[in-house]
Amino acid sequence: MAANEPGQPAPVMPAGTATPATSDLDTPTSALAIGAHPDDVEFGCGGLLAKWAADGCIVHHLVCTDGSKGTWDPDADGVALAARRQDEQRVAARRLAGDRSGEVRFLGRVDGELESDLATRGEVARVIRELRPQVVLGHDPWKRYRLHPDHRHAGLLACDGIVAARDPHFFKDHGIAHHRPDALLLWEADQPDHAEDVTAFVDVKLWALAAHVSQFESTMKAADDDQLAAFGQRVRNRLGDLGRPFDMDAAEVFKLIADL
Ligand SMILES: [Zn+2]
Repeated sequence: MAANEPGQPAPVMPAGTATPATSDLDTPTSALAIGAHPDDVEFGCGGLLAKWAADGCIVHHLVCTDGSKGTWDPDADGVALAARRQDEQRVAARRLAGDRSGEVRFLGRVDGELESDLATRGEVARVIRELRPQVVLGHDPWKRYRLHPDHRHAGLLACDGIVAARDPHFFKDHGIAHHRPDALLLWEADQPDHAEDVTAFVDVKLWALAAHVSQFESTMKAADDDQLAAFGQRVRNRLGDLGRPFDMDAAEVFKLIADL
């Protein structure tokens, strides 16, 4: 499930926010995207990950929960759904990055019950230390009026996980070298200040989103082919709206934190 389902009307920039100051980072050697649920990464930064992968970046995924509540069917088997959604995430990751696909990790927390506690922070820090991404991407935990707790906690885990991963005295029990990424990009940003041109990668983003077949009915409001096409058009419109202030035909926008 995505907090910022692209069909929902939303201002291009929150009130009081200056026009983003930066755009189009240099392609990193590797990136790690941290999402609360299977599909969040594709919604949040799928176009950018596809763009970077096409330029040689290795793309890793970390999904914090099992997605076992991502259905409107009250009789659904949560265990089966969780397994299905892991498979869907692997397909989506492959569609985004092709032969530049890295690892797809799952923390396996129960959907809706993610906590940004010390133990979970340590697990995220361990993944960052093991995969050593140059850039980390995640949910903005400070987005105002965000309801879904998993999205808040996943955002905090990305931020706090970086701090723990970069400092050698945190989680010494990991027994592996600390690692400081160069940059953090937060999607669904409360105050976006960075845009990435994804004009050439909207189709790939949609193809990756389409891997999440279990989410067609609930998250994407797409119970048939016509509705799925309409979902795709809503995503295109949203990315077009985001790109317009930057003279981009389609953009994904972020809060960029480059002083880590
Ligand atoms: Zn979600």
